[in-house]
Amino acid sequence: MSRFLRNAFRSLEVYVPGEQPRDKKYIKLNTNESPFPPSPEVLDAVAKEADSLQLYSDPECTALRKTAAEQFGVRPENIFCGNGSDEVLNFAFFAFCDETRGMAFPSISYGFYPVFGDLYGLDCLPIPLRDDFSICPDDYFSLNKNIVIANPNAPTGMLLSVEQIRAILDSNPNNIVIIDEAYVDFGGKSCLPLIAEYDNLLVVQTFSKSRSLAGARLGFGFAQPPIIADLNRVKYSTNPYNINRETLAAGEAALRSQSYYDDNCRRIMENRAFTTDALTGLGFSVLPSSANFIFARHPKIGGETLYLTLKERGILVRHFSHREISDFVRITIGTLEQMQALIETIQTILS
Ligand SMILES: *Cc1c(COP(=O)(O)O)cnc(C)c1O
Repeated sequence: MSRFLRNAFRSLEVYVPGEQPRDKKYIKLNTNESPFPPSPEVLDAVAKEADSLQLYSDPECTALRKTAAEQFGVRPENIFCGNGSDEVLNFAFFAFCDETRGMAFPSISYGFYPVFGDLYGLDCLPIPLRDDFSICPDDYFSLNKNIVIANPNAPTGMLLSVEQIRAILDSNPNNIVIIDEAYVDFGGKSCLPLIAEYDNLLVVQTFSKSRSLAGARLGFGFAQPPIIADLNRVKYSTNPYNINRETLAAGEAALRSQSYYDDNCRRIMENRAFTTDALTGLGFSVLPSSANFIFARHPKIGGETLYLTLKERGILVRHFSHREISDFVRITIGTLEQMQALIETIQTILS
């Protein structure tokens, strides 16, 4: 840390991303990426775009928003494009929170929420999960705070229904409710249609998980036009060209390859069922997941020990040291071959 850093940032606890190891080849089940490559159309579109990299990208993301609007049944004015959904979330915290209006979120959820809260010096309210690790919607009624909920939640994978989210929206008409749908394509139901009814709803989605574009950095915010205008106010005050040309082209091509990605999601859900059954058979308890990962614990081996032992054997999963969940590991669902290798390795470790 230099002596020049502003005081408020000296004690920040920054977000710690999952490992992206370069030392050896792992079966990588730790950061919820897709095990499948982008569609052939995406690869083509990216290659073609390289010709034009001397020119700035379109700050309005016109073509991508038009294609997305058709695909999602909304208008382009309902869509904000971010450099990853992390940027959409960051801009939303920046735009809608201040000293008088903080943010509430589940105490066990995406690790970036408290980091943004700290960065902006907010009064945050972490709300505990129930004993079964589900989110209790009643805990979010009539809070005088903005709210962000990952649905399905991470790292539990557990889902709230659209009706439960509607109840949260109804009881907080004067606060922004952000629904982070990073994992919605793996069996969840999107709240996107609710943006027509609620002027306080911001739905966030990403191309990083179901659309195999984690490295391209692209996410969407969906809301009524005034919220989108507010996000643009922040964007045009920080980085107007936030999405690069190749990513714009990749995103548009990805939306046009929907059936390819639908197939991939179906395979992930099948492999999730396979892995859940196999782990349950080995004595694990596995939370009911609607995401491309599962959260599992075993009565005979701690989460950290399992994580370290798997790593020694070439398989990376994610462990969180947070007390309530330190018994668990989070396992990204990969190909069937990867999941079979995982199960065999865990069998060996347990015996
Ligand atoms: C992965 C993830 C994101 C971030 O996705 P990017 O689009 O890659 O920035 C946001 N929210 C949750 C809950 C996630 O798991």
